[in-house]
Amino acid sequence: MPARRQLLRAGLGLAATLSFIAGAEAAVTSARLVRDGRAARLSLALGQGAEWRLSALLRPARLLLSLPGNTWRAATRLSGAGPVAGARWDGRQLVIDLTGAVDVRASSQGGTLVLEIAPGGMSGYANLARSGLSGRVGGATAAGRPAAASAPGNRPLVVLDPGHGGKDPGTIGVRGTQEKRITLAAATELKRQLEAGGRCRVMLTRSRDVFIPLDGRVEFARKRGATLFISLHADSAPGARGASVYTLSDRASDALSARLAQTQNNADAAGGLKLPPVSPEVERILFSLVRQETKIGSARLAQFAVDSLGRSVTLLPNTHRQAAFAVLKAPEIPSVLVEMGFLSDRRDEASLNRAAYRAQLCRALTSAVNGWLERHEAGMASAG
Ligand SMILES: [Zn+2]
Repeated sequence: MPARRQLLRAGLGLAATLSFIAGAEAAVTSARLVRDGRAARLSLALGQGAEWRLSALLRPARLLLSLPGNTWRAATRLSGAGPVAGARWDGRQLVIDLTGAVDVRASSQGGTLVLEIAPGGMSGYANLARSGLSGRVGGATAAGRPAAASAPGNRPLVVLDPGHGGKDPGTIGVRGTQEKRITLAAATELKRQLEAGGRCRVMLTRSRDVFIPLDGRVEFARKRGATLFISLHADSAPGARGASVYTLSDRASDALSARLAQTQNNADAAGGLKLPPVSPEVERILFSLVRQETKIGSARLAQFAVDSLGRSVTLLPNTHRQAAFAVLKAPEIPSVLVEMGFLSDRRDEASLNRAAYRAQLCRALTSAVNGWLERHEAGMASAG
């Protein structure tokens, strides 16, 4: 099952639990779906202040409307109109089947939530699938931001991936430093700094000295619906010194990047990622649009990181490089791999062993991540 759907189910399960705890006092007393020109207009009598949350699925094209704390007392089946093939209340959410990609506009009229569902472009729909819509009846609507966006549980999730671990020590430095220890120390510090900033939640793929296969690291981030994925390394490359940042590419940008990717991918016997099979043409296009967006998001994060690192630490020339790193292959999560330095270089090894240097490096990465999130949120707000 695709991770997005797993995530959605988990989220909806939680919403159902919360509404149960809240006592489910509010109720949906009427639901109407009518045609309006080429669009469909869905009106739900919810009551002033009721919270709603809309998610979009790509395969099949479908909207899911959840109404935390509301009981459904309206018709449980609505026949199709315009781009809506039909809608049904499944006991937990309103499932709105679509005939293709749509644009959705939400508004309130009194205590009624009105969704205008119009035929739309695929890239807009891919955006909707990525961020969703939510709001309160009578209040503002936000893309991807639930009503209580500032609550810690609703902040975007950044997954940090300390490279190697357990039976895989990674590179051994000139003076015997194990890469797996440096990556974990840096990830722990970066987590502390990011959390102190209050803009995101942070999880580590490992917080102990354990081995995790590469696809396990990717799946960790996908299952939790991460907004960003950052893998931290300090490998070896004869003659190379300084920090560098890598994004995914089928073709390596240079021999060093190719070799780094190959070494790391080999560290994992299970390497590679099993993507869910995608057959119908429309699904393929939607999927590739999401990937394209992910690629742009990854490149932007890499650029922010290079700019920010460049102001505080030594960089490897041509600092942003590309290669086929298996750990960067989540199709929907912008991902970068940071080589914080090379343990094969005596000076890098000495620096990376110092907590003060790692903190400095993490301040640069924190600033890059926060810059990226700020830009991302601004983009989503203008899209909504
Ligand atoms: Zn490494």
